[in-house]
Amino acid sequence: LLDERESMYLVSEFASTYFQNTMLKTDQGKAIGLSYFKERGFTDETIKEFGLGYCLDEWDAFTSEAIRKGYKMDYLEKTGLTIVKGEKQFDRFKGRVMFPIQSMSGRVLGFGGRILTNDKKAAKYLNSPESDIYHKSKVLYGIYHAKQYIAKEDNCYLVEGYTDVIQFHQSGIKNTVSSSGTALTSEQIRLINRLTKNITVLFDGDAAGMRAAIRGIDLILEQGMNVKVVVFPEGEDPDSFAKKNSQSELEEYLEENSKDFIEFKASLLYQDAKNDPVKRANLIHDMVSSIAKIPNQIQQEVYIQECSRIMDISEEVLFSTLTQMMAKEG
Ligand code: ATP
Ligand code: MN
Ligand code: MN
Ligand code: MN
Repeated sequence: LLDERESMYLVSEFASTYFQNTMLKTDQGKAIGLSYFKERGFTDETIKEFGLGYCLDEWDAFTSEAIRKGYKMDYLEKTGLTIVKGEKQFDRFKGRVMFPIQSMSGRVLGFGGRILTNDKKAAKYLNSPESDIYHKSKVLYGIYHAKQYIAKEDNCYLVEGYTDVIQFHQSGIKNTVSSSGTALTSEQIRLINRLTKNITVLFDGDAAGMRAAIRGIDLILEQGMNVKVVVFPEGEDPDSFAKKNSQSELEEYLEENSKDFIEFKASLLYQDAKNDPVKRANLIHDMVSSIAKIPNQIQQEVYIQECSRIMDISEEVLFSTLTQMMAKEG
């Protein structure tokens, strides 16, 4: 089994190099893949650093080259690089730009591939399937490039997508990772927990991003970590925002808009209907349920005090609600 996994790592590494070379050295790669990344504002250095590449728009160009080089069909199939249907074999990522997904130590585990057309019927991103080397719930995109900066800054920015990580990195904010391709998991947060206790969630400025941020907060609090949230303007994500602004403007925005989770949840209400007593009560309940997730009692007390102040409700009521909730959850 160890040999099998090693073979899967080797074929993934080969694929990554092959996709990079295809993009940088073939006419189609340059005209389609490279120019796509250039349009998104990525420099040659960034492209190289993240190992970005391109898979030719042909049925099996990659697969036949891999076979020719001696890689076994078995491992091409197990890593999902090749799709086998009866007698036919074809490249999973045909015609897509490629983002290799690396482990903490830099090994290639799988890929994300983005479509280049605006074809609404095809999935925008296609990811490698779950395999013996690629466990989606345990991987964070960008962790290999970000780990030293996360430790140094003692904070980790958590974004949604591949391009958010890359654009932030290029803008000098290198302590950034994403859960790309899956909803955030506890295992992913545990990876960050080894490097810092502080996470700042930067999700897209849309309804889906807001929902994901809210869900992420409780998962982070559960591990006794500190969580802040930055909301981007409607329709922007960290990538588009970083591309439009200078590094200092970006840093200033993050600084000025980072809120702890109580402030963040309170701000949701103020956008919504601040004088609606039902909504206000629901929100207070929701804040206390997040506080109930925190394992440390002193921290809980600090947040109860903040919640009391911001929502203008007594600490006594909040504490008794908290106690009830915690008793229920055991
Ligand atoms: P881009 O800027 O390239 O359009 P994005 O990263 O902003 O992409 P979002 O739609 O915000 O894309 O999605 C966030 C992340 O979710 C993506 O980076 C990708 O990892 C994942 N994702 C998005 N769409 C799909 C999909 N159809 N299938 C699988 N994963 C997806
Ligand atoms: Mn989004
Ligand atoms: Mn996005
Ligand atoms: Mn985007």
